[in-house]
Formats: sequence, structure tokens, C-alpha cells
Amino acid sequence: MTDVSIDLDTEARVRADDRAHVFHSWSAQALIDPMPVAGGNGATFWDYQGNSFLDFGSQLVNLNLGHQHPDLVAAIQEQAGRLATIAPAMANDVRGELARRVTEVAPDGFEKVFFTNGGADANENAVRMARLVTGKRKVLSMYRSYHGSTSTAISLTGDPRRWANEPGDGSVAKFFGPYTYRSPFHSSSPEEEAQRALQHLEQTIVLEGASTIAAIIIETVVGTNGVLIPPPGYLNGVRELCDRYGIMYIADEVMVGFGRIGQWFAFQEFDVVPDLITFAKGINSGYVPLGGVVISERIAAHFDTVMFPGGLTYSGHPLACAAGLATFEVFDRDGILERVRDLGSRVIEPRLHEIASRHPSVGDVRGIGMFWAIELVKDRETREPLVPFNAAGAEAAPVSAVAAACKRDGLWPFVHFNRVHVAPPLVIDEDDLVRGLGIIDRALSQADEYV
Ligand code: PLP
Repeated sequence: MTDVSIDLDTEARVRADDRAHVFHSWSAQALIDPMPVAGGNGATFWDYQGNSFLDFGSQLVNLNLGHQHPDLVAAIQEQAGRLATIAPAMANDVRGELARRVTEVAPDGFEKVFFTNGGADANENAVRMARLVTGKRKVLSMYRSYHGSTSTAISLTGDPRRWANEPGDGSVAKFFGPYTYRSPFHSSSPEEEAQRALQHLEQTIVLEGASTIAAIIIETVVGTNGVLIPPPGYLNGVRELCDRYGIMYIADEVMVGFGRIGQWFAFQEFDVVPDLITFAKGINSGYVPLGGVVISERIAAHFDTVMFPGGLTYSGHPLACAAGLATFEVFDRDGILERVRDLGSRVIEPRLHEIASRHPSVGDVRGIGMFWAIELVKDRETREPLVPFNAAGAEAAPVSAVAAACKRDGLWPFVHFNRVHVAPPLVIDEDDLVRGLGIIDRALSQADEYV
């Protein structure tokens, strides 16, 4: 299956076409040189020069079942041979069956799924539903968050990616979420962090005006902004505030849903039930674009006799749904959720703590399941980040050096700001996982030089 070979002519052609004609997302076009990828299998992908890489970022934390999973490929092929596409207004076997499977793993009372093309439009539509049902407009989201790059989704996003898109949707207000390692509330324990973050959120609600707020949207475990695990009681507290003030709670499960932390939906780990759930990525490992909103009863009932004004031509695409159904089968057959919990606690967690103990540049390691971050600092005492906030170019050199060392050793890392994330495909061989953690261990010596 693995076909790593050298083909420099093809590589030159791929690179030339890409550089001449592909306008890349989130990039200054003249400053990038995207790597031509020749193929992939499981947790590995390779270039045209004979180099292969362990994929420790799962292609934007998307490829939960790895590259070229035979069951997903076969399901797409079979569906393509039968009915390649059909408009969203039609009833369709795989779409209906997938919606049923999704509701079966959601909490009681979630019986309807609205399919989208990805994560951003799932969030757009969840907000649209909350606004229509509550008759209110404002939405609260965290500073440390990413919710997508479409119009409202980029406004919901708290991190610097929203800056160039502002003012955007003027009805979004930001609040600080909990971040135990760098507490914005000067707290000294996770419990205190949860309590103070909730007080801050309640003040934000009061000052923004509960009568104006339709929804609060939260990544259950904050993803690209740091793998921030909610401290005990935080999400339950958010639920209580939402109930008290008549606000909808939207759980953004785009990155963490469908297995990343060892649960179907990450909020199940924290024993809380939102009003709307958004998902994408892991539902079918992005083999064909798919996302969606799982809708609780009260919200679904509102649209029984009132039209829901939204939808896209490709929503609930049969090829995407077929891959989603195959995903459920693989998860059940291969015990993926159990595997994630096992590898997370037995292999990743102890190994990362051991790595942290030896590298002075490691300030914190945190995570759950197969979703971890190593946070790099200049000084463990002061916790000064190894690179300044939102660093780019020369300023980011210490972290770029870690990434380059990983690549030299055959691992493609997920590096963001002053962190190295560990998010390989959930199907990675245990040996490869251990090998990859070893590569990161060695690469961190680069960061130690800047301490
Ligand atoms: N929400 C979260 C938490 C994400 O991580 C992402 C993408 O990384 C999105 C939403 C946007 O998803 P998409 O890129 O499919 O639109």
C-alpha cells in the first residue's frame, strides 16, 4: 500500500501548477512553498522525493481514521457507482441513515441533524437557529477560540485570524474562558479557575444584556488555541448560566467530536448537555466535505411549522454520508473510542510528562485522549512564552526550529504559536506513536537552546 518512491518530474509539475495557479488559504501567496504530497496511508504520508512523514496533526485534526482507510474508500466508491449526488431537498438512504446514527450517539432529545459542508457553516447555521428561536441576536464566544472562516464564524472566532476580517458580524461579544496554566483570573487551582471564569462570564452576560443574547458558543476542548481542557464544573456552570438567562448553549465539536478525545462528543466527558451541537472533520475524516448541526427537541420543534431559511446545494452529499456511515462501522468494529482513551492515558500522557521533565523549554503539557499540547516557555518560573503572542517569521524562529527538526526526522508536526500539538490519526500503530513522540522529544532540544 505504501508507495514511497522518487519522482522528481511529477513533483516539479505539481509545484509549478500550484505556485502558478492555486491561491492558498491563510497565506501570503509569494511567501509560501507548499510541499507536494504524493500519497498517504494510515498515519503516514509522503512526498515525491522518497520522504515519508508521520502525520502528527492529522491534516488540521481532521483525518481521524487516517489516510486512505479502505472501508471509507470502498464506501465512497460504492456510493459513487450507485448515486453520486442528489439535492438536499430529496430523501436519501445514506443521508437518513447517517442522521439516525448521529442522533443515536447524541444525548436523549436530539433527534434531528442539519447537514452542512463543513465546520464553519455548521456554526453559521447553529447561530442562525439560535437567533431565530430566541428572537435575539447577540452571540458570546471566547477570545481563545476558532470557529471557522465564513462571515459569522470568523466573527465568532476569538484568535487573531478574525482581525483582518473585522468588523464582521457586529453582534458578537467576547469573553475569557478558563486557561489554568495562564489564568486570566489569577487563580491557583482548576476549581478556582472554573469558578472565577464563570463569575466573569456572568458579568459579561449582565453587561452585554441577557435580553440581547441568543447564544454562547464554546469549543468543548479549545483546539488550535491551546488544547484547553475545561476545568471541573466549568461547562456545567455555563449550562446553568444559559438556563438562568434564557441563552442557547452551542457546543462546537468540529475538532473534538467523533473520537478525538475518546468520546463521540467531547461534552459527554464533562457530563453536560448543550442545546445545539456542531460537528465536521471526524464524522468522515474529511474524505468528502461534511459537517452538521445536531438539534435538540425544543429548537427542532420551532421549525416544525416555521421554515428554516438556510441550506447549500451540496449539504448532506451522499458520498460524504456514505463515508460517515463507514466511519461509524469502523469505530464500532475496531473499538476506536476505547483505543483513543487507552493510548492517551497509557502511552501519550506518561511519555509527554517524562519529556517535559527533561526539557527546560516545556512549561506545560496537557490533553486528553489523542489531543495534546506541549506549551513552550523561555522561563518555567515566569512562564514567559518561548515566542511572543501571534509571532510570525523571524520572531517565531525557536518554534520553527522545532518543526524543522521534526520534519527532518520524518514527522509532520502541528505547531501553533508557542505550542507543539500531538494529534495523530486515531488509528496510528502504537509503535509509530512511540516513535513519533521520540522524534518530538529530540526536536525539543532546539527549543531548549533559547531558554
Ligand atoms: N470549529 C472548530 C473548533 C475548528 O477547529 C474548525 C476548523 O479547524 C472550524 C470550526 C471550522 O471548520 P471548517 O474549516 O470545516 O469550516
